[in-house]
Amino acid sequence: MKTGYLIDMDGVIYRENNLIPGAAEFIQTLLATSTPFLFLTNNSAPTPEDLAVRLEHLGVTGLSPRHFYTSAMNTADFLSETDPNCTVFVIGEGGLLAALHERKIPSDSIRPRYVVIGEGATTMERLTKAHECIERGARLLVTNPDNWCPVSSEKTRPGAGATAAFLEASTGRRAYYLGKPNSYMFHRARRKLSDWTLNELDTFVMIGDTMETDIRGAVEAGLQSFLVLTGSTQMDNMGDYVYQPTSILQSIADLTNEIKTGKASDRLNGSVVANGKGQPSKSGQRHQTDVFAFHKPRPRPAMTK
Ligand SMILES: [Mg+2]
Repeated sequence: MKTGYLIDMDGVIYRENNLIPGAAEFIQTLLATSTPFLFLTNNSAPTPEDLAVRLEHLGVTGLSPRHFYTSAMNTADFLSETDPNCTVFVIGEGGLLAALHERKIPSDSIRPRYVVIGEGATTMERLTKAHECIERGARLLVTNPDNWCPVSSEKTRPGAGATAAFLEASTGRRAYYLGKPNSYMFHRARRKLSDWTLNELDTFVMIGDTMETDIRGAVEAGLQSFLVLTGSTQMDNMGDYVYQPTSILQSIADLTNEIKTGKASDRLNGSVVANGKGQPSKSGQRHQTDVFAFHKPRPRPAMTK
């Protein structure tokens, strides 16, 4: 049995600018054992090259751009597969522009077929232009549904979902959201791993810290899912969710030995929690993609992609 891993980054490998203890050794073990893996992130602003450099600065060496799959790349894959001759008007940053360019999808600010929204800052002028394009018939596509993203343990910033919400309100049109938890992200990532390994893999595991994106998406795409408790989810919150991970790990470091030896590490089975050992928390938290929960308390800054 050969396993391929899809791995979330923020809350699994690092938090803010600090590596999670054991994460570097885990990645080195994946590389040393030639275990297939792909980092999966909803952040559509950086390119895979940017992400490899970022991890190198954090002390993880040996990674190359091919180890990363972002929601921007997923958006470019989606458009080139479903509508190869389309044009786009983009609000987004380098990672999104580069991914669309690589797929040879032209930019058009007059009569584009899609307005594509990604992570990053914008201006009222760009929003007005996007609004006008949608009024002229462009469809609204968003790289990821996150309304907010963590900046530090005390600070968040608006995400692509918030920019899209502005245009949904102004045009009355509904957006389509790619990125996790959309199954298209998981299917394309799984296909990439399968292609590299010439279809040798029979098991795919998503490792993540966020129930609403990582675990939900894995469940819906039919993958195994390992939840780590080093990010946005606490054990106390587990009872709040309909879907549950296959297993729960204290941290990604718990998997290092398993990769080395091929023997399963100590971990909780997710269904144990679903069956009542994890108690629902007293009050729900607003999720970063939950646009209907305005009345709920401010989001936990730890909520990550
Ligand atoms: Mg995360």
